[in-house]
Amino acid sequence: MAKYYCPYCSPGRRLSLRANHGKKMCAFCGEQLVEVKLISPKQIVAFVVAAAFLMPLVLMASLFIQEANESEAKESLSSMSFLLNAAS
Ligand SMILES: [Zn+2]
Repeated sequence: MAKYYCPYCSPGRRLSLRANHGKKMCAFCGEQLVEVKLISPKQIVAFVVAAAFLMPLVLMASLFIQEANESEAKESLSSMSFLLNAAS
């Protein structure tokens, strides 16, 4: 079921509907109610723009973590070989 709100009454006010020729009207001010859509086109555009700005940051962070793990592995490998050479 779709949700409705009155564009002129305060949002905290409990909404009461009044049907008028198939249109839903506000019982307080008599204005036609506006249907609330779950996902509006504006939200989709905002999500795409936010993803476009955040994606390079996420990629950079993942590359940095990957590089840090690789250098750590190389360091431990070289220190192990140094210890093996010293022991023999
Ligand atoms: Zn109203």
